[in-house]
Amino acid sequence: MKIVESRSEAYAQVAQWRQTGASVGLVPTMGALHAGHLTLAERSTKECDKSVATIFVNPAQFGPREDFSRYPRTLDDDLQGLRDKQTDLVFIPQPEELYPAGFSTYVEPPSVALPLEGVFRPTHFRGVTTIVLKLFNILPATVAYFGQKDFQQLTVIRHMVDDLNIPIRVEGCQTVREPDGLALSSRNRYLSLEQRQTAQSLSRALTAVAKQVGEGILAVEPLEQSMHHILREAGIERIDYACIVDRTTLESLPQLDRPAVALIAAHVGDTRLIDNVLL
Ligand code: AMP
Repeated sequence: MKIVESRSEAYAQVAQWRQTGASVGLVPTMGALHAGHLTLAERSTKECDKSVATIFVNPAQFGPREDFSRYPRTLDDDLQGLRDKQTDLVFIPQPEELYPAGFSTYVEPPSVALPLEGVFRPTHFRGVTTIVLKLFNILPATVAYFGQKDFQQLTVIRHMVDDLNIPIRVEGCQTVREPDGLALSSRNRYLSLEQRQTAQSLSRALTAVAKQVGEGILAVEPLEQSMHHILREAGIERIDYACIVDRTTLESLPQLDRPAVALIAAHVGDTRLIDNVLL
């Protein structure tokens, strides 16, 4: 597995692979890799001739009061995990490599970035679209893999790729969970044992809603209320949102008469967690 820090080396390697006709899979991450990230790497290796991962904690997608400086960094373990998944190339740039002095161009995200996370983290998706486009340019892959765990992010990236005619296919990958349902997240390591129990209520609320929908409850309001109820019962006081929206536009809807998604963002102690389920 080759490890590179410079943009030029990273570009040269991927461009050379593409010139020989090889397909290249790209897995962008912020490191602190867990089994969820590694399923993306595994899929990339399986489906593409060459596989590239990136590890970069992107300052542009963190708000001023968010956890950028304390975001977990576990590079040695990350590299071992990627090696185990037969990743061919890892791009680990220093911040100055991607944001040199004088950097000032950002990608205005599509309108699907406005609700949900956009309300609570107003500059987040601008940071995401900017870094993802930069990575797509530096690593001109055939296909890029993103997790459905970050459902709105996946939607934002799909729209950006369509709107800006970026020649990369985007693949969404299923959320990997702990046996009790908690979605794997780099931020789970912030949770105490007790908070870990509380955190499980996010997936419990989502599973309950999916079950209710299966039983024929299609009015959105009672379904949303039931999610809030389960979260509050578990002791969660700060719920940013627990709602059901149209799966494509992310607009709210009164009735489940089309493909939808239920999404939750909630704080367990100082840790903000997100999760979702397709309906
Ligand atoms: P991050 O390092 O948190 O930016 O995540 C990198 C990629 O891994 C993103 O595309 C995430 O959606 C994806 N990811 C994060 N958690 C999971 C999970 N539990 N299951 C599947 N993919 C995930």
